[in-house]
Amino acid sequence: MNILVVAAEVAPFAKVGGLADMTGALPRAWWADGHEVAIMLPLYGSIDRELYGIVRTEHVVSVPVGYWTEYAEVWHGKLPGTEVPIYFLRSAEYFDRKGIYGYHEGFEDNDRRYLFFSRAALETAKVLGFQPDVVHAHDYHAAPCMPMLATQYRHDPFFARTAGVFTIHNMAFQGMYDPVRAMEFGGFPPSEFYPSSWFEHHGSFNAMKAGIMFADKVTTVSPTYSQEIRWTSEGMGLQGALQHRASDLLGVLNGIDDTIWNPRVDEHIAVPYDATTLQKKRINKLALLRELNLPCEGASADLPVIGMVTRMTQQKGIPIMTRPVWEVLQQGRARLVILGSGVREYEDYFRRAQDQFPDLVRFVTGYNEPLSHRIQAGSDLYLMPSQFEPCGLTQMYAMAYGTVPIVRAVGGLADTVVHYERTSGTGSGVRFHDYDESAVAAALDYGLGLYNDEPHWSTLRTNAMQQDNSISVAARRYVEVFSWAQERLP
Ligand code: ADP
Repeated sequence: MNILVVAAEVAPFAKVGGLADMTGALPRAWWADGHEVAIMLPLYGSIDRELYGIVRTEHVVSVPVGYWTEYAEVWHGKLPGTEVPIYFLRSAEYFDRKGIYGYHEGFEDNDRRYLFFSRAALETAKVLGFQPDVVHAHDYHAAPCMPMLATQYRHDPFFARTAGVFTIHNMAFQGMYDPVRAMEFGGFPPSEFYPSSWFEHHGSFNAMKAGIMFADKVTTVSPTYSQEIRWTSEGMGLQGALQHRASDLLGVLNGIDDTIWNPRVDEHIAVPYDATTLQKKRINKLALLRELNLPCEGASADLPVIGMVTRMTQQKGIPIMTRPVWEVLQQGRARLVILGSGVREYEDYFRRAQDQFPDLVRFVTGYNEPLSHRIQAGSDLYLMPSQFEPCGLTQMYAMAYGTVPIVRAVGGLADTVVHYERTSGTGSGVRFHDYDESAVAAALDYGLGLYNDEPHWSTLRTNAMQQDNSISVAARRYVEVFSWAQERLP
């Protein structure tokens, strides 16, 4: 199958969150299964062209925008470790700047940037002669590909047999734009924007809604989240659109690229290990403590380490964890190693915790891929008390590294973490349900109680490591969805 992936993030080139991991991992798995894949990504100013061998091609693609034409230079690279081509679309005006989306509010011209990118991706496929069986568009940035394909490009014989599949990674970000600008930049007739039209939501142009309505199939990144967004406020106002597409909406659980997230081959960690050599995980723990300048001699080596690698937003449940974690630290029952950045108030909390408990807490701000691997390898427990979680990858990484996840059972966390039962010795982590502090406190208590309590601790960690969350399962499921999408074509 010829698969055209259109996304605003692809690891390792441009990553903000799990979206990038998935758009990097899926093509690798499809390629291994013999599919033809081409990826389209903006050439952001932050992408290191030299490091990744990204070179300019002879193509400069004309991109109709509104009533005029703009241009995108096409640059070329390969997904590391594969022959999968990735095309970087360069527009100095839109992408030669610092950052991907613009912190925190987003760049003012994100409407124009991503409408341009969506159209440029389709135009580039044609110029390159890459005739897709499916356009796989991710999140609101690439969502405009769906209405463009359905209402404009499918009239072109080149795209006549091309299906559109839209994958939602997070309903919280929808691409709500000024309708006058967005309809024009997208090349959509202004008359198509009216109350309750497929482009409209609460008076704004809504890229996510258009993606949902015009796609042949809509997927989201876990089965539980696919239900939550239809039936609860997790649909973030688009429940109606999702109900409308209910028969074409399904959850495909994300997976792990085990060429990257695998303690047996991970080049970022101190010592490789697997389920049969789990005792070596301790060496990684000590290396992490040393790296972060935390005490690691004598009894302190045995104090459990709770890890977190996260965007610091309300979504990630920071508000309900602050008090119970503080209590655990005060009692000297665990240490906390946290990497991430985001909302100032949350960052301040972790700074205060580090000041208050200098031997127990390390807070590292900014984005640090190698350290994120070492935290997974060096922690004993991994905390993820999310308010909502479309899928979540870091709990899966934790399990692969024999680090016990403590999660709130929502979205993909509910689909991937099975609660450990002492009576049966089954389960891969600790789950709690209520979105409140006492639920976090009880879960921390249960998790810390299991720590080094044999035979439970070994059984639990081995169960976690043996759980198969491989990306190849997800990749094959997507191919099935792509063929269902094609069946919908006239
Ligand atoms: P989300 O996509 O909602 O941010 P996920 O758990 O699906 O959450 O994916 C987050 C990804 O981003 C993981 O690969 C995680 O390791 C990575 N990540 C988050 N924050 C950082 C950071 N500060 N440094 C390095 N990696 C990070």
